[in-house]
Amino acid sequence: MSDLLETAHPRPEVLAAFEGATGFMPVDEGLALYAAAVTAARRTGLPVLEIGTYCGRSAILLAAAARETGTVALTVDHHRGSEEQQPGWEYHDPTLVDPEVGRMDTLPRFRRTLHAAGLEEHVVALVGRSPRIAALWGGRLALVFIDGGHTDEHATADYEGWAPHLAPDGLLVVHDVFPDPADGGQAPYRVYLRALAEGFEEVSVTGSLRVLRRAAG
Ligand code: SAH
Ligand code: MG
Repeated sequence: MSDLLETAHPRPEVLAAFEGATGFMPVDEGLALYAAAVTAARRTGLPVLEIGTYCGRSAILLAAAARETGTVALTVDHHRGSEEQQPGWEYHDPTLVDPEVGRMDTLPRFRRTLHAAGLEEHVVALVGRSPRIAALWGGRLALVFIDGGHTDEHATADYEGWAPHLAPDGLLVVHDVFPDPADGGQAPYRVYLRALAEGFEEVSVTGSLRVLRRAAG
């Protein structure tokens, strides 16, 4: 079913910026995310939205896709890091702690990264908790990319909060989907199964990245 996605490819300088950015997405998954964003934005003319900005690695690709299609990329994060990114945990990066506040703050690195990539104009950062922003949100979206907190509480809230804002024919993308518990946490996988049960269809599988299509109607 991958013929449902356009074969869009980011410009070389965009790919280089992505590869140089701090974050958690391999190149093959990034290319699939980019193609999904271009496809969904062209199809609907609407913005694309990410939950889980971190330092802007995947946001570079969404912003570049928005630039190519004349829309905008929205990216949601409280910028204080997920559970596994806190001091003492597996994915903690001490260079991302604000020494004055004594907590993680990924917003400055994100801003520098998008500025250096020349993509600042194509992205709007929404700083806050995902469910709070989702509850205020009124607009339709071309694509929702769930890459935020990895607990069931957070992943479920992201799905429940944002999937209803998808346009008919919009795309839902879920990262860190691991059917085998030995490969990673199961919350994104459970969200993926729930989306399939609720009428989404699978469009593509790349590593742990799943692209789903909301059946129109
Ligand atoms: N997309 C990024 C990785 C995101 S990591 C990349 O390409 O590298 C997950 C991010 O989700 C973290 O920055 C964390 O602060 C954020 N996050 C976790 N739970 C959240 C919530 N409930 N609301 C907003 N942001 C959240
Ligand atoms: Mg992820």
